Amino acid sequence: MKKIGILTSGGDAPGMNAAIRAITKAALHYGIQTVGIRDGFEGLMKGIFINMKYTDVDNIIHLGGTILGSARCPEFIDPEARKSAVANVKKAGIEGLIVIGGDGSFRGANVLAKEVNIPVIGIPGTIDNDLYGTEATIGYDTALNTIVEAVDKIRDTASSHKRIFFVEVMGRNSGFLALNSAIASGAESVLIPETITDIEALALQIKSQNKGRRSSIIIVAEGDKEGGAMDIMHKIKPHLDDFKLRTTILGHIQRGGSPSYFDRALATRSGIMAVELLMAGVSKKMVGIKADEIITVELKDAIDKQAVPKIEKEELLLKLLTK
Ligand code: ADP
Repeated sequence: MKKIGILTSGGDAPGMNAAIRAITKAALHYGIQTVGIRDGFEGLMKGIFINMKYTDVDNIIHLGGTILGSARCPEFIDPEARKSAVANVKKAGIEGLIVIGGDGSFRGANVLAKEVNIPVIGIPGTIDNDLYGTEATIGYDTALNTIVEAVDKIRDTASSHKRIFFVEVMGRNSGFLALNSAIASGAESVLIPETITDIEALALQIKSQNKGRRSSIIIVAEGDKEGGAMDIMHKIKPHLDDFKLRTTILGHIQRGGSPSYFDRALATRSGIMAVELLMAGVSKKMVGIKADEIITVELKDAIDKQAVPKIEKEELLLKLLTK
């Protein structure tokens, strides 16, 4: 193997740059040229490629976002439109591809592997942690820390003014960020897409919690079945007439910032593993982490199976939240 391609796709996540750095350096170490593909599958279709040198990846380990750029590229779902990507990969002599992204990006990688007939490896880069088979995705730890820091600040004002805050965090289909940030920030309640939200029960809980307390923080995953923080606040308002309710939507600050130690280390270890897998001719695997070991998961499983937060395991913690 003499040349590999690398792209970042879908939602960006802190630690993607650390992965790009590790892949480039590991590949050069083994005598392989890395080609950086601009803006995910979009750059693949347009043929916007950069030959990566050691110096291109100096001083990027601490940067959020992705130096290669990322994009949503709906055209890539169309096999006709993908023909240009297949042709560009062949023309550039790319013999293996590493895709850093979420499950959507892995779907794209999976079809491309068949069409262009080269090995493809996925590295999970998403703050949502919603990929089956790995305990953590790159960016998740940093995003959790960002949320916890923000909630700590909201708590200061909530308790000064005796307010109930509904804080919306990311997670359209997944409650990982909400559940674990709620545990770590000492929130009073958490609403996630994986469980049923009972507005009246929540109102009763808030009322009983607030006897003698000055504030409540309820973390709301954006994809909760009853809606985001705004919807929840409007639905619960008639039940909580005597309370001062507020919402904060944390939004895109959750996706940015310098990656944590954990995300840098995970990205570095995953990047090196991905290069070594390609060299061994392995294809259609995702790199993950389990019990501090870097592991591989079938790309198909990562795409088809759902990652679910360990709600049962956290049951006691959740009960503690509501007391
Ligand atoms: P993420 O990778 O974060 O889940 P998306 O779901 O937006 O983000 O997917 C990123 C990109 O992957 C899409 O914009 C598209 O280019 C590509 N993609 C997603 N699903 C498919 C599919 N079924 N076939 C081919 N490409 C896909």
